[in-house]
Amino acid sequence: MVASGSENEVVGRVEKGLLIDGQWRQAAGGGTFAVEDPATGRTLGEISDATPADAMAALDAADRARAKWAAVPPRRRAEILRRAHDLLIARRHEFALLITLEMGKSLGESLAEVDYGANYLRWFGEEAVRIDGSWKVSEDGTARVLVTRHPVGPCLLITPWNAPLAMPARKIGPAVAAGCTMIVKPAPQAPLTTAALAGVLIEAGLPDGVLNTIPTTDAAAVTEPLLRDGRLRKLSFTGSTPVGRVLLAQAAGTVLRTSMELGGNAPFIVCRDADLDAAVEGAMVAKLRNVGEACIAANRFHVHAAVAEEFSEKLVSRMSTLVVGPGTDPATDLGPLIDDRQRRKVADLVDDAVAAGARVRTGGDVPAGPGYFYPPTVLTDVPARTRITREEIFGPVAAIRTFTTEADVLRDANDTEFGLVSYLYTRDLSQALRMSEHLETGMVGLNRGYVSDPSAPFGGVKQSGIGREGGNTGIDEYLEQKYIAIDATGSAAVPR
Ligand code: NAD
Repeated sequence: MVASGSENEVVGRVEKGLLIDGQWRQAAGGGTFAVEDPATGRTLGEISDATPADAMAALDAADRARAKWAAVPPRRRAEILRRAHDLLIARRHEFALLITLEMGKSLGESLAEVDYGANYLRWFGEEAVRIDGSWKVSEDGTARVLVTRHPVGPCLLITPWNAPLAMPARKIGPAVAAGCTMIVKPAPQAPLTTAALAGVLIEAGLPDGVLNTIPTTDAAAVTEPLLRDGRLRKLSFTGSTPVGRVLLAQAAGTVLRTSMELGGNAPFIVCRDADLDAAVEGAMVAKLRNVGEACIAANRFHVHAAVAEEFSEKLVSRMSTLVVGPGTDPATDLGPLIDDRQRRKVADLVDDAVAAGARVRTGGDVPAGPGYFYPPTVLTDVPARTRITREEIFGPVAAIRTFTTEADVLRDANDTEFGLVSYLYTRDLSQALRMSEHLETGMVGLNRGYVSDPSAPFGGVKQSGIGREGGNTGIDEYLEQKYIAIDATGSAAVPR
């Protein structure tokens, strides 16, 4: 497929260097790497490939800018974030095209991501001016307890490819709001959108050195010296659980503050009394948003045996009519997966489930031709403990099993090391509250297939992560508390 003029222009406008100390510059040694369009396999452009020396230059810049930036008034930090939000919204079509080109999802979904990511900048701008502390009388009355809050300092923000604007925005927003400086390491599959986002923040007035970017094809080598350097004070990572474990072990070396947004294995539970049409609508969103490549994607469908066939048929009829194609085509519902490795993983999980006895109700075959397309697929009669029920699918495959009792489905739903989100459909209020409390996940979508919201605390329990992004507490991940003990001995005496 030949790129349209506007596609080349949008890619051409993105800075392809590293952003260090406010300057776009080449990587040490001049290395670059190609960014691929997953719908066609063609190269969109070459971007600088950061080395460990570049990473250290970025940390030098973040450390130099640290004290001055921390002293910038909260209102100014808030205004920069608000301006960046407004610039993103003004250019939402351009950003959406860029996301679609490097990541694959449809333009409609990419537009939604631009709005969602921009809203994090606006939300945290609003939080910047509300950072508070506290004051109280110590329990024995001899002191006053003053608690103030301060930016943690230079942060390393490592992000995945599946939402190349929203994932960095969800970290940059609170870091800027709190007064931290930062180094952003985007995923090599989709670094262009993150570079363009950094450009918008600079345009909005972010001072030199506050935000530095180091795209690289050698993440481990480039981030390791940063994690060893005592000037780095915080690591915020969004990505897979195995990589999160490695980074946590490295972070232990310097006792770094960490926030970890890791993998998921979300159960989608449909109770006997559920509104089945609403459940199918919710399933379409929870399963297919981001072509299924989302940490919060519904991974395991548990449907009450009495309604399982009706739910499955309705889901098959919706999923089988979706248009699969390049995300840039306005007719497309579902774009390609990110790369051939991801597509092979999805195909392997489906083959493994089928070999164990699952039935393919729609989809399940890998199409020929360029691009990493995989059809929307529904499997029923999926046996317990097959790989597809244990691993993150990260593709448009709904694996359906049945249940008969609440106790059984809760046990099954919680039988995983992950704990990011669950989805639950029921019209029975007490059952809804009871089950929501017993589901071992950081978030529950109750009669709703979508939980992402800047005003809510996003994050998981168990091996899905540590900490929360967004909501009233999201900024706390980037703040330290300081307690000042003020002597008040004798203050109990009444002055004469
Ligand atoms: P990944 O773990 O392979 O990579 C994530 C990031 O870490 C990338 O920037 C990558 O270059 C970098 N990285 C990889 N190895 C590294 C190392 N040894 N040292 C330092 N950095 C390293 O994940 P991915 O394939 O990019 O993204 C998909 C995963 O992200 C899924 O597991 C998904 O569930 C998860 N995710 C979680 C959330 C959440 O909020 N919980 C959101 C989106 C994605």
